[in-house]
Amino acid sequence: MEDSVQIRCTRCKNVFRDRAKRLQNGYSRQCPSCEIVLFFDEDSHDANIKRAMRMARRARKDMRESESVSARKTAAVPRQYGGRSRSNARSSEDQDDD
Ligand SMILES: [Zn+2]
Repeated sequence: MEDSVQIRCTRCKNVFRDRAKRLQNGYSRQCPSCEIVLFFDEDSHDANIKRAMRMARRARKDMRESESVSARKTAAVPRQYGGRSRSNARSSEDQDDD
């Protein structure tokens, strides 16, 4: 699973990677090459930043979806519930073998 995105430095055009989780509005980090501080905002006027933000958002979405799929798998154990509740509707005997 791709959890990091490519960022292209505005100044030196160096390409580096950072975690998609971190790349949200208000995040800032230094370029490892020229050490300029890049500010990440989805409304940034910088096309490189905007692109990175978009990729990060998509990566986060992918991660969320794959997480929820695996969560659903583990939670998909069907609850055997109400099988013969009709005849036993009024008796509250504990017949559930758990
Ligand atoms: Zn740079």
